[in-house]
Amino acid sequence: MPESSVRRVIPLILGWEHLPRAFSLHGDQSGEFLVEPVPALLLDTDDGWTLIDVGMNAPLIRDPYLYQRLHGRNGLIRPILPAGDEAVVDALAQWDVEIGDITRIYLSHLHNDHAGSLRLFEAKVPVWVNRAEYDYAMTHPGPEQHGMFRIDYDDPEIEWNFIYGDVELAPGIFAFDTPGHTPGHMSFVIETKDGEGWVFAYDAGDLTENFEQEISPGGLIASTPEQGLASVMRVKEIAAERGFPIIPGHDPVVWPELIRKAGGTPPEFPAGALESV
Ligand SMILES: [Zn+2]
Repeated sequence: MPESSVRRVIPLILGWEHLPRAFSLHGDQSGEFLVEPVPALLLDTDDGWTLIDVGMNAPLIRDPYLYQRLHGRNGLIRPILPAGDEAVVDALAQWDVEIGDITRIYLSHLHNDHAGSLRLFEAKVPVWVNRAEYDYAMTHPGPEQHGMFRIDYDDPEIEWNFIYGDVELAPGIFAFDTPGHTPGHMSFVIETKDGEGWVFAYDAGDLTENFEQEISPGGLIASTPEQGLASVMRVKEIAAERGFPIIPGHDPVVWPELIRKAGGTPPEFPAGALESV
């Protein structure tokens, strides 16, 4: 295997979502809601700065008509942005990185909380996504009801590159199929030059409980809890093989800790954001 091209892995939080616990844990009957962080990864690599996922599309949250049209149809998930204009711009600035420094974007899937800020990069950077994900998102008649907002990604300026199943995208960056949550969902193994590594599940499992208790995600598109659980188990197997920890996709405890461990500061949750819930 060639030496990893990844010098450093920088976890980012680009906002939050207030949502039923049952959306993360299939069969959950608690009736509880959680506030989960919106995750992304910034990778410092030999080929430049790489992002995995880009967070939400801020104008669709700030404009009341767009909000109603898009998030309003998206059930009980309430998006919450950090203070500031653009969460990605602000998160990168913490590391002295600018939008124009990003040379590649990999997307775990096309949900609005992962692919929403693509417009900031249009025509400037190549974007990789699983082909099955793209085909679903571009051809299904109602992706908005499933949290995929076509306005986020149906952009002729984007230079798409397609992933067809498990692949090493660059030395140290391995993407693998974990369908269920969405048709072409992908998780990632990232290993640095120092040999440190993680398995980033993304939405194959939002929470630590998904893996510890082996529970399918609650949110499944054109799929079954059996397939969701198979992807949970696949993440666990790969993590065990590689000897790397699993980072669940939206875990409210794991992500802030990971950011602090990397030497960063998680954004502050805006006071009063949940007052009208
Ligand atoms: Zn998702």
